[in-house]
Amino acid sequence: DLSAVTILVPGKMNPDTLDTLKATFDVEHLAGRKLEDLSEERRQAIRGIAQMGQVPAAMIDALPNLELIANFGVGYDGVDTAHATKKGVVVTNTPEVLTEEVADITLALVLMTTRELGAAERHLREGKWESEGPYPLTQTTLRGRTAGIMGLGRIGLAIARRLEGFDVKIEYHNRSKRDDVAYPYHADLLSLAKSVDTLIVAAPGGASTEKAVNAEVLKALGSDGILVNIGRGTTVDEPALIEALENGTIRGAGLDVFEKEPHVPERLKALPNTVLLPHVGSASRHTRAEMGKLVVGNLVEWFSGRAPVTPVSESVEAGIARKG
Ligand code: NDP
Repeated sequence: DLSAVTILVPGKMNPDTLDTLKATFDVEHLAGRKLEDLSEERRQAIRGIAQMGQVPAAMIDALPNLELIANFGVGYDGVDTAHATKKGVVVTNTPEVLTEEVADITLALVLMTTRELGAAERHLREGKWESEGPYPLTQTTLRGRTAGIMGLGRIGLAIARRLEGFDVKIEYHNRSKRDDVAYPYHADLLSLAKSVDTLIVAAPGGASTEKAVNAEVLKALGSDGILVNIGRGTTVDEPALIEALENGTIRGAGLDVFEKEPHVPERLKALPNTVLLPHVGSASRHTRAEMGKLVVGNLVEWFSGRAPVTPVSESVEAGIARKG
C-alpha cells in the first residue's frame, strides 16, 4: 500500500509532480520548515526523498529508515551519493527525458553567442535600429568553427548531432574514449581546448570536474574562443572566466549554469560578450513533466518491491539498486 509509504519533499518541487506524489504516497513537504521541526516518529517514518535541491550527508543521517533518493534532474551532484551508497540508500536521477531539450538550449547559446543575438535584440528594443542604424556586423560566425565537447554523453551526443547539421566540426574530451563515434578524442581537456575554438561543457558537476575549465584552458581556447556551459557552473573557474572575457583572452561565453546559483557576479552581467541564462536547459513544462513522471516512477517501482527505473551508476555498481 503506497499511501502508507512516507516520502520527504525537502524543498521546492514541480507542482504537478508534487500533486502526483501526494495522490500516491504519504508526503511530508517541508516547504521552509527544517527536518528538526518534525517529530521523531515522523522522521523515522520517512523511507524516500523526492527533491530538486541538495541532499547532504546530514539529511541522510537524520533519516534512519531512508531507502531511496529520487533526484529531479539528470545531474545529481547536489546529492551526497557517496554517503548514500555507503549507507545502502539508492539514488535515482532523470536521464534521457531531458536530453533533446537541453541540447536545443545549447545550440541556442552557441548561436546567440557567436552572432551576438542578445545584444542585437537589445539594439532593436532600445530603438537604436531606427535612431542609429543597423546593428554592427558580428566579430564572429559559426562558419568554419570547430567545437570541442567536454562530456560527450547523452546530452553531448545530442549536441554533436545538431552541430553536424550546422556543418561544425566536432572533437571531444571524456575520461574515456567512446568506441561508437569517429570524432577526434582528447584524453585531456587542455589538449581539446588547444585544438578547437568553441568549447562546450556538457559534463556533470562534482569533484571530478571542479574548476576544470581554468585560466590555462581558456588561454588555450584562444582570442576567437567561445565557451558554452550547460553542464554545471562548478566546472568553470568563474573568476578566471571573467578575467578572460574582460581581457579578450577569449571572445565570448554563453552560460546556463553558474558557480553559486542563483547569484551571478555583476562583472559577468556587465560584459557585452556574454549570453546568460538562468539555468533553463530543461525548463519547459513538457520536459519538466516527463522528468516528474520519472521521479514518481522510480519511487513507485521501488516501494512496490521492484527495481528502480533509473538508478545512478554508483547505486548499480554497489549492487543496491536491486528489487526493493
Ligand atoms: P551522461 O552521464 O550521459 O554524460 C556525461 C559525460 O561526461 C560522459 O560522456 C562522461 O564520460 C563525461 N564525464 C564525466 N565525468 C567527467 C570528467 N571528470 N571529465 C571529463 N568528462 C567527464 O550525462 P548527461 O549527458 O545526461 O548529462 C550531463 C550533465 O549535464 C548532467 O550531469 C548535468 O550536470 C548537466 N545538465 C544540465 C542541465 C541544464 O539545465 N543546464 C540539464 C540537464 C543536465 P566519461 O565517464 O568517459 O568521463
